[in-house]
Amino acid sequence: MSRTPHHIAAPHPVLSVERLSHSYGNAEGGAPILDNVELVVNEGEVVGLLGRSGSGKSTLLRSIAGLVTPSEGELRFIPDAAGNPRSVAMVFQSFALMPWLTVQQNVELGLEAQRVPVEERRRRALAAIDLIGLDGFENAFPKELSGGMRQRVGLARALVVEPSLLLMDEPFSALDVLTAETLRSDLIDLWGDGKLGISSILIVTHNIEEAVLMCDRILVLSSNPGRIAAEFRVDLAQPRDRLDPRFRELVEQIYARMTQRAAPTAAALPTHDLARPLPPVSINSLAGLIEEVEAAPFSGRAPLSELADTLQLEIDDLFPIVESLQLLQFLDVDDGNAVLTPRGAAFAQEDVDQRKANFRRTLELHVPLARHIRTVLDERSTHQAPARRFRDELEDHMSPDFADTTLRAVTEWGRYAELFAFDDDEDRFSLDDPA
Ligand code: ATP
Ligand code: MG
Repeated sequence: MSRTPHHIAAPHPVLSVERLSHSYGNAEGGAPILDNVELVVNEGEVVGLLGRSGSGKSTLLRSIAGLVTPSEGELRFIPDAAGNPRSVAMVFQSFALMPWLTVQQNVELGLEAQRVPVEERRRRALAAIDLIGLDGFENAFPKELSGGMRQRVGLARALVVEPSLLLMDEPFSALDVLTAETLRSDLIDLWGDGKLGISSILIVTHNIEEAVLMCDRILVLSSNPGRIAAEFRVDLAQPRDRLDPRFRELVEQIYARMTQRAAPTAAALPTHDLARPLPPVSINSLAGLIEEVEAAPFSGRAPLSELADTLQLEIDDLFPIVESLQLLQFLDVDDGNAVLTPRGAAFAQEDVDQRKANFRRTLELHVPLARHIRTVLDERSTHQAPARRFRDELEDHMSPDFADTTLRAVTEWGRYAELFAFDDDEDRFSLDDPA
């Protein structure tokens, strides 16, 4: 009888990732998404991978699952003490169920691929379905199930193949808050009881609290390029209490670490750089955050974690706003605090027209792409230019997706500031017609 993973004393590695780098697409201008990533997952561990959107979390997980072939580096699965090879299975954010198959058929899929005989397949699928709390739903189709139940099917399908390492890519983020909480604690309970039949879990999330709730160890992935920037151990017994001061402190520390990372990257880019990707952040979000920081109780300086709570935002939603405000120099980030600059503080006090003028000066000073569009429009006799022209230019430096998002961000900002006009139907920039 093997011991449950939790009682193994000396760490025994399941997976070792060495100097893993990856860039998508062609070599020319293909900026690395992941750069020299090193990590080890041991038996009995739940490891969390935290990082901002686009930092390469899914790419890393897909590499480990064998769905992406990394450009460089090594992935090693280390056989267990008895010499058995390791295996992996993945749970996706989108559940990824086959709509035309029943719950049981969906769960059996993984076993079919392994050519497990029909009878054994049936037995194991029913056991996994039972374990994960889907008893009675064997013959239901995915569309008849709630989101939470569907993700249970996703979990059962991964568990039924008895993987050594269970990979989960934001498995709860498509669920409502209460459903996610229930599924999370069910999973932690099953894991704690040693019932899952797996050695380790590697879970990707951008939710710090989720990571602190579930994981023994948390790795923070930096962005552009993705590297392991920090590691945190969570030495709190399960079940964990979000209100425990030690829980809160750890959440704060991770927040601070993740934002500390954000500041230098934004600042390190030269301001003449046209090709800086911009997150799609609306004027309302920018203004809303400035107002929140300026008002009581913060009065110009707000701990980011409290700010996120006040605004009911998740870190992944807060970061792009903060990053844009840093770029526009309305805000600095100092040791996990958002601090308004004089220009930011002024913005908070100004009326609509003053704000537009302030924003326009800011764009001209700090957003080279906005300035560039304006210059092109000024120089053309028609004072018009197709958006395609700028999109093509951006695509020399970034992926089409990023180029599109960046251009959309700058379009909204420039329109608001009345730096230029934009016609959605014609997909064309122009200078505002004097009526
Ligand atoms: P999120 O939190 O939004 O899920 P992530 O950390 O999982 O983000 P990835 O999905 O790994 O990030 O993407 C990292 C970067 O690689 C992004 O810039 C993304 O646009 C790019 N990328 C992802 N998949 C591909 C692909 N198949 N081809 C080209 N670029 C890709
Ligand atoms: Mg992802």
